[in-house]
Amino acid sequence: MPEGDTVWRTARSLHTALAGAMVVRSDLRVPRLATVDLTGRRVLGVVPRGKHLLTRLDGGLTLHSHLGMEGSWRLYRSGARWTGGPGHRIRAVLGTEGVSAVGYALPLLELLRTADEPQVVGHLGPDLLGPDWDADEAARRLSADPDRPLGEALLDQRNLAGIGNVYRSELCFLARTAPWTPVRLGPDPHRLVEVARRLLDANKTYGARSTTGNRSRGRLLYVYGRAGEPCRRCGAPVRAAELGPSGEKRIAYWCPRCQPDPSA
Ligand SMILES: [Zn+2]
Repeated sequence: MPEGDTVWRTARSLHTALAGAMVVRSDLRVPRLATVDLTGRRVLGVVPRGKHLLTRLDGGLTLHSHLGMEGSWRLYRSGARWTGGPGHRIRAVLGTEGVSAVGYALPLLELLRTADEPQVVGHLGPDLLGPDWDADEAARRLSADPDRPLGEALLDQRNLAGIGNVYRSELCFLARTAPWTPVRLGPDPHRLVEVARRLLDANKTYGARSTTGNRSRGRLLYVYGRAGEPCRRCGAPVRAAELGPSGEKRIAYWCPRCQPDPSA
């Protein structure tokens, strides 16, 4: 599942492959952009903002994409077979002389003026992997609504940008706090956002995300995706339930013994 670390890595690969090169093939397969032709423009760079990707082109244009739950950008050398999935899942192709960047299953793809980027990413909280990361501001936003469940507040990109469903469950586990615990009863927000930053940073260059420090298969995560399996710390069965924010309800995982219900 793409989270801030995946998006950071994707942006770095795209930037390395495309920055400075001229677009010689442009194929945007979403209705609103079907007639747009980006050929002849040079790619200036690819920048991650939280879970958003901004591909900047000369002439003041930005191709804005989001990976959502299943999206990806893949790079192929000219002549290589595209293996990222069936053709009907392709949403974008940006080709240069040597390489094609192919966007699969992107739930969001739009073209905007680079000057207007703040309209699509300006609402984001401090970016965990951004050059302008601000721990104090992230902690302040995270604790601004003290009655909100911690697992919701962590997933809200307006508080801090880059945490997805995997990290929110893992962070709550590391903080020994049940995901629905109100923020005011949860861990110190400053410490929590620093742990988040450290985890994403440690994983940004790896393909397999680990929060346990163990990179062997099957040992990568503490609770995420492990419902019914024994907690790695205490052996109790890991549990799972749906948790908001509304519109972004996802399954949260927790250990009922290591992360006790604060109201119990
Ligand atoms: Zn446990």
